[in-house]
Amino acid sequence: MAGNVTIDPLAWAEAVTKPEIDEVRSLKSGHMLDVRRLIRAFRYERAILLRQKLKSLVKSDETRLVCATCGVPVYLACSTSKRFFFRHRHEDGSCPAVTRAGFTEAEIRAMKYRGTQESEAHKRIKELVLRSLSADPRFTELLSEKTWRSSEGLPGLRRPDVSARLENLRLAFEVQLSTTFLDVVLSRREFYRSERAALVWVLPNFHPNYRRMTDDDILFGNNSNIFVVDEITAAASESASTFILKCWHRKPVIDGDRIVDEWVERLVCWDELKVDVDLQTVVAFDYQVEAAKLLEQIKTEKAARIAAQQVTAERAKAALENELRERVFRFVLDDDDNDEYMGRHKGWLAINGCLQTQNCGLEGKYPDLMKVSRLVHLVASAKTGKPVGFKYKNLAEIGHHLFHQHPDLLLAYGFMLRAFGTKSILDRDDRTDRWAAKVREERPNLLSDPKYRMAEDEERLLAFLSQGASRKPLMANDNRDQDGGRAAA
Ligand SMILES: [Zn+2]
Repeated sequence: MAGNVTIDPLAWAEAVTKPEIDEVRSLKSGHMLDVRRLIRAFRYERAILLRQKLKSLVKSDETRLVCATCGVPVYLACSTSKRFFFRHRHEDGSCPAVTRAGFTEAEIRAMKYRGTQESEAHKRIKELVLRSLSADPRFTELLSEKTWRSSEGLPGLRRPDVSARLENLRLAFEVQLSTTFLDVVLSRREFYRSERAALVWVLPNFHPNYRRMTDDDILFGNNSNIFVVDEITAAASESASTFILKCWHRKPVIDGDRIVDEWVERLVCWDELKVDVDLQTVVAFDYQVEAAKLLEQIKTEKAARIAAQQVTAERAKAALENELRERVFRFVLDDDDNDEYMGRHKGWLAINGCLQTQNCGLEGKYPDLMKVSRLVHLVASAKTGKPVGFKYKNLAEIGHHLFHQHPDLLLAYGFMLRAFGTKSILDRDDRTDRWAAKVREERPNLLSDPKYRMAEDEERLLAFLSQGASRKPLMANDNRDQDGGRAAA
């Protein structure tokens, strides 16, 4: 016999190296599914549950998947090395894929031998369960191997290893041995669910690093809790006069951005257990709820981390932009007449290079220092409410100047005055109302006449220098395009 291979419940499931059936067809979608890829999409614990689900569906004639070659319903099986493959429900030799090879003689001998060994163990555990339950006066109607007839007249009867009653709840205890097949596990679960009774599987022993296939069927079907009754627990039950079992359960813990499992082994009193008759689970620890909680926590923490990173990145970007903006302003406004021209031009080229990396530099081979100076002066004037760098007396005179010399800057000038709250200063300066009259007269042409449109690179530079004040303010439902509403006044 092959040695036991135990898989981490959270590891990805794997297919056998050469599956006989390499494609299955989904009856629901009609799609062909590559078996290896299908299996690999599940974590091991999920694959075990899928195996149970497919098996019950096949049993109840609700086929989900069929062999792509012959159309016979298939279910998921697991090799001794805990790798998965598909098996035909029945095989009559008409399909080239052979999935139901018989056992070798040696295997049958080994199984028989194990069977004899287990019947001894079986008796022992049953006695221990009876002893433990008898120690607790709340459990009544203790019976061993008593036939349990279906109350609904459903087909079949069961003979649970031990049955008992706790108030209104009927309980069936089954000793789980390595020869317990999935079919048996599933049909018992169905039977006791329809009986509204709780089925408790008990093992003679368990270790998470040495799990047999049948352990995994019980474990994952029972929300990752498994129970052991042995000499120690029976003695504990007797001395406490309360039913005590040993519980092994998985416990999810956060490890960075993912969940990993810890295994917990502890003695539990029956009162600590949660029984769900519909799900046919008896648990000391709700693994699924806890894991979902932790996943949510990981998601929240991740989102918070990303948000914090974004804020930091945005702050750094803003700081960089502010620094560059101040550098441009200083360069233009602190202009010393003594600076020799070539040196100054070189300085401007260096700054324009930086502006270009922020996508707001002047383009062309000879970026004009006069242009950037004019823009800086215009921003500074609009911001302070008095001419900066212009040889005019007030904002209205700058306006007239723009009308005649730089009509492309007019709209931006207007937007900036409004944004900086200095429009009233211009209105006050416009004593003769000449400016207002000119604007009234030209208003219909402001948007259509190309002379009022700025070159794109200058427009971007001005927006950068004025921190967006040179652009038309966005309405709530405006679509911001790359030009930021420059053309839409
Ligand atoms: Zn087939």
